[in-house]
Amino acid sequence: MSFASLGLIDPLLRNVQDLNYQTPTPVQAKAIPAVLGGKDVMAAAQTGTGKTAGFALPLLQRLVQHGPAVSSNRARVLVLVPTRELAEQVLQSFVTYGKGLDLRFLVAYGGVSINPQMMKLRKGVDVLVATPGRLLDLNRQNAVQFDQVQTLVLDEADRMLDLGFARELDAVFAALPARRQTLLFSATFTDDIRAMAAGILSNPVNISVSPPNVTASKIKQWVVPVDKRNKPDLFMHLVAENKWEHALVFVKTRKGVDYLAAMLDEAGYAVDTIHGDKPQPARLRALERFKTREVQMLVATDVAARGLDIDDLPLVINVDLPIVAQDYVHRIGRTGRAGASGVAVSLVCADEAPQLAAIEALIRQSLPREEEPGFEADHRVPETSATGEIIKKPKKPKKPKVPQAVPGAKQATGKKPRPQGGESKRKPGAQRAVAAGKGTSLSSGNPFSAQKPRSKPAGKTAAGARKPAGKPAGGRGKRQP
Ligand code: AMP
Repeated sequence: MSFASLGLIDPLLRNVQDLNYQTPTPVQAKAIPAVLGGKDVMAAAQTGTGKTAGFALPLLQRLVQHGPAVSSNRARVLVLVPTRELAEQVLQSFVTYGKGLDLRFLVAYGGVSINPQMMKLRKGVDVLVATPGRLLDLNRQNAVQFDQVQTLVLDEADRMLDLGFARELDAVFAALPARRQTLLFSATFTDDIRAMAAGILSNPVNISVSPPNVTASKIKQWVVPVDKRNKPDLFMHLVAENKWEHALVFVKTRKGVDYLAAMLDEAGYAVDTIHGDKPQPARLRALERFKTREVQMLVATDVAARGLDIDDLPLVINVDLPIVAQDYVHRIGRTGRAGASGVAVSLVCADEAPQLAAIEALIRQSLPREEEPGFEADHRVPETSATGEIIKKPKKPKKPKVPQAVPGAKQATGKKPRPQGGESKRKPGAQRAVAAGKGTSLSSGNPFSAQKPRSKPAGKTAAGARKPAGKPAGGRGKRQP
């Protein structure tokens, strides 16, 4: 099938050709004719399926073919997205796919000054890509009115609900003309999404492509069981051992992001971070630098997890598992794009067994576990099954206490010594120093050290039982407040 056979006009076909898109993806093949025909669409499609072109190309065509010209402080197509990063990316897609067309585009999101956005809206725009909160702000200040909106697109609707935008969305729906085209894209179709869809779509064309398990199966995935407090060391060890040089690294907390970024930086990697507390321009800069490979390691919280379009990413490292299983699929969705194969490794501690079980249930497969010699977990990560169960092994009968335990006895129980850091192409000395725990100023406040301690016989703590060589002193085993 060709793009031309879908009924697209020449300027759009040229732009698609310039991008070297040979054939429409499944979501494009279904969405483009439906959108061109003015129909509502409900599509289960996640990032990586080509969904953006699936709605942008036909909407650009409708804008060109169907007047009237937009008036001041109005928009004809409204695209709502959950995050600022996705907003920028979707805008860029409209600009690229709509090259040479006489149309005006604008992106608007919070966290940056509203005035330039208001100025640009004065002339009116054909396409306004916005996050819900900022769109309402602009509307309240009369910078944008909705009476000329022909089409509403909800991109990553599930993520918008996850992020608590339900009320803002309802307010937008109420303010839009009742007669309009509505396109809803969502990776998942929960009851909430279905309820929302029922209220805003009329007679939609249903499209479903690439269920999460299909996307996930293209990627080599495995899990390394580890004690939480040893995650930073294991992470640095894996990076050095495998000579990983370009990876997207996910961490649960902002503190964790900063901690790992500092470790990587000390080890000589070009590193940047994305998290919610970072000013927007800095976040976008980080993403750009990562895409151009000026930055090797991008360490991010969930904020960056969805919708970001990073081509050819070979590796995702989940230092923490996401709380929401679906986010795992979004995270690793960044690898293995367009048929390329990717790698996704997850460092999993005992506390995360429920999340691991939920992920395995979602992707309908058990993730293989590969212990890393020297980092075996003292806190065993319970077995999980692909049906989402945590298989609790029967407890071993307690051994009678030996009154005078020999200090260091556990060391002699066959555990291999922790490997020293691998070589680095870039700054071997520095990297080895960190992998071996030396020369780092990160000795205090390991934000990964808050695992619930299992009760140990007196005088034999987890830290004391096995102390991998060279771990930064202090912070180990400390509980965070
Ligand atoms: P999306 O799912 O919209 O985020 O798109 C994912 C990636 O696929 C983007 O990098 C697009 O440039 C690319 N893409 C979209 N449509 C096609 C196509 N028909 N052929 C090849 N690549 C495409």
